[in-house]
Amino acid sequence: MSRGICHWGPLLALSIIWTLFLCGIYCILLWYPPWTSAASVIHLIFYVSWMILIMNYFIKSVTLGPGYLPLEWRPDDDKSEALLQYCCLCKGYKAPRAHHCSKCGRCVMKMDHHCPWINNCVGHFNHRAFTLFLFFVPIGCTHAAVVFICCTVQQFHLLSTGPYRRAIFQRNAVVSFTVYRMIMVLFCIGLSIGVTVAVGILLYYQMKGILTNKTAIEGWIAEKADRYRPNGESFRYPYNLGRKENFKQVITLWQDYVGDGITWPVVEGCDQFTLTKEQLEQKKLKRERTICCRVVKSYNGSVIAWREGLRTCISTPWTDEPRIKVEQGDVILVTRWRKWWLYGEKSLHKLSATEITDEVLSKEKGWFPRHCVVRIDEEESASKKDD
Ligand SMILES: [Zn+2]
Ligand SMILES: [Zn+2]
Repeated sequence: MSRGICHWGPLLALSIIWTLFLCGIYCILLWYPPWTSAASVIHLIFYVSWMILIMNYFIKSVTLGPGYLPLEWRPDDDKSEALLQYCCLCKGYKAPRAHHCSKCGRCVMKMDHHCPWINNCVGHFNHRAFTLFLFFVPIGCTHAAVVFICCTVQQFHLLSTGPYRRAIFQRNAVVSFTVYRMIMVLFCIGLSIGVTVAVGILLYYQMKGILTNKTAIEGWIAEKADRYRPNGESFRYPYNLGRKENFKQVITLWQDYVGDGITWPVVEGCDQFTLTKEQLEQKKLKRERTICCRVVKSYNGSVIAWREGLRTCISTPWTDEPRIKVEQGDVILVTRWRKWWLYGEKSLHKLSATEITDEVLSKEKGWFPRHCVVRIDEEESASKKDD
């Protein structure tokens, strides 16, 4: 079920990991070589262990994959179908906590997010491996940074103490870099500190999600659920079983994952469909707010929209969401709006806002300039006035 390692994300991640590891080994051999004492042997064993653990969990995250729902998946009983969302692309129902990933092209069990570094989604099967990968990377990188810094300090120390002291140190370990090696080690210090901070931040959010048993997507759903509720009522999130239980659900000692990825333990007063019913409700609300527009001016879908005028061009939405190419006569169902840009999904038919169903949606979603469309209801009233 894996999407493979031959992609810029995993290849870049592997190059960074191996560069730091090999440079670290080189520095250890100069600064604290394993043949000098028992402590130096133990030091090297620790250093290599981090690498083995990092590689192990990285490869597991890529090869296990997140766990895809079978195509055309249905629940066992027909009654449950009404309580689940339907995925037109996989032609099946979405199990509780599953979401469709447009990059993987499949519905993913307990989808957290699509990670370009592993060229795969993080989901039910690889959640533990991915989290442990995030856990060991900062440890390994911090260790490497300490090695690089000690090695550099010793180099300067030797240079500043002259040939006599240098001769004494030579009997043990001597660090003498050429200019190029010095530049390489300084680069590695920056890289290892940068990776530690970046991955550390990711780990923080991942742990927050695990301890509340909320994936990134579920976090947004729960947040919206609270916002739509009247009188400050709050939504009872079904999967938060307490920190300890939530932790055990993802991080186990030996197993890669617990459970089938379809049924989940829930808190009292909730059932398997508490969250899916909320999702259906939110989808309905979104439909009600959807505005039907007709394209009156084509747009080629380019991110730098210099042909659309200066103000549209400079106010382009800075998100990783796509732009869509629209052609005159297309019908777009707009769900979000900004002053110069709109976000919507192309419809397969010409229709009015009351007929929006999954069957009319083309799944082509994205941003496009606001001046390219007119609202269909406004267009109709204008034509009535002309009559
Ligand atoms: Zn799907
Ligand atoms: Zn994905």
